Amino acid sequence: MSPEIFLWIFIALVLFEYFFSTILDYVNDKNWKDEIPEILKDFYDNKNYTKARDYKIERGKISFVSTTISGLITLCFLWFEGFGILSNYIVDDYSSPFIQTAIFFLVLFIFNTIISLPFSYYSTFYIEEKFGFNKTTLKIFIMDKIKGILLSMLIGGVLLWAAMYLLSVFNEDFWIWLWIGLSAFMIFINMFYAELIVPIFNKLTPLKDGSLREKIEKYSKKVGYSLKNIYVIDGSKRSTKANAFFSGLGPKKTIALYDTLIEKHGEEELVAVLAHEVGHYKRKHIFSSMIFTIIELGIMCFLFEMCMNQTIIAEALGSNQMYFHLGLIGFSFLYSPVGLITGIMSNMRSRKNEFEADDYARSTYDGFSLELALKKLSVDSLSNLYPHPLFVFVHYSHPPLLQRLEALGK
Ligand SMILES: [Zn+2]
Repeated sequence: MSPEIFLWIFIALVLFEYFFSTILDYVNDKNWKDEIPEILKDFYDNKNYTKARDYKIERGKISFVSTTISGLITLCFLWFEGFGILSNYIVDDYSSPFIQTAIFFLVLFIFNTIISLPFSYYSTFYIEEKFGFNKTTLKIFIMDKIKGILLSMLIGGVLLWAAMYLLSVFNEDFWIWLWIGLSAFMIFINMFYAELIVPIFNKLTPLKDGSLREKIEKYSKKVGYSLKNIYVIDGSKRSTKANAFFSGLGPKKTIALYDTLIEKHGEEELVAVLAHEVGHYKRKHIFSSMIFTIIELGIMCFLFEMCMNQTIIAEALGSNQMYFHLGLIGFSFLYSPVGLITGIMSNMRSRKNEFEADDYARSTYDGFSLELALKKLSVDSLSNLYPHPLFVFVHYSHPPLLQRLEALGK
């Protein structure tokens, strides 16, 4: 095979991904229905429902412009051998492979940050603002970006260094060691996410004593769930949108309720939402998704090593020698269809888990309160009530609201 063939494969994959996602967005847009579903008539008025449609349209436009621009830039980079030119330039100036790779990705990272910044700014201060969600001040926005950049550089740098070290020591079959290392790192981040990552951006405070805490304690006792780490997170500093999340394993398991959630929902609804999160834990979803991530990491590491052994990939990118960074770039293109499939599989599993967690909340607490909470959450976030089934199949990690209500109502 010649390098040109690989170049054309890369280009075809970029084009495929672009058209696939654009067509999906299009059919999803066309699926909007003007009538409000019977079950939500008490929650939406016509004005709010039209607002939900406009919100979706505005977000669709900006995402179309941003994916088009990034697709075009990627194609230009491929066509004009941008990756190879950048690599050759750096390799000529620096002799340490780690420095070469670090600078290569730093340049791409800075470039990508500059391109994506206006979109991020526009969506926060124009779209979210216009629809009344935004609470982010310019200062928070800038601080978030700086913290995010530093964190990415720190984590990216450490992972890169570790991966290159493993490659230099093991060479053959280094993918197995990389796999073990990345899996350990993933489990570590998962365990300490609430303690290490969240506090960089938000404040977690233990849920205060009071009637809500009493209700939660009573529920936790009933289902046998340790109450130690239940926190309130200050989501209101960025957005009015409400949420809740679960993280960690074993003694590190943590549930965080957004202050915006507590503000807008009754206590019964909050316990129901918490019961749903406990359901994820009790039905072993946290554990099983970790296992699936580890399997996926294994596939990725194996394919990455294969790419590293193909000098032809480096040639297709415009360099006559294979380097770690070029192997990684080639891998990222070739992995995209595999990633699409594993993404779809993971979403399928996640949607099934959501039904199970809903069911757990219904059978151990109260389905009606959960229904009420879900309806309010959907109205407050102006969510799309009629996503296209194909769009749901590919992108949705949670089932559409109407399906969840239907399952809860059975
Ligand atoms: Zn859930």
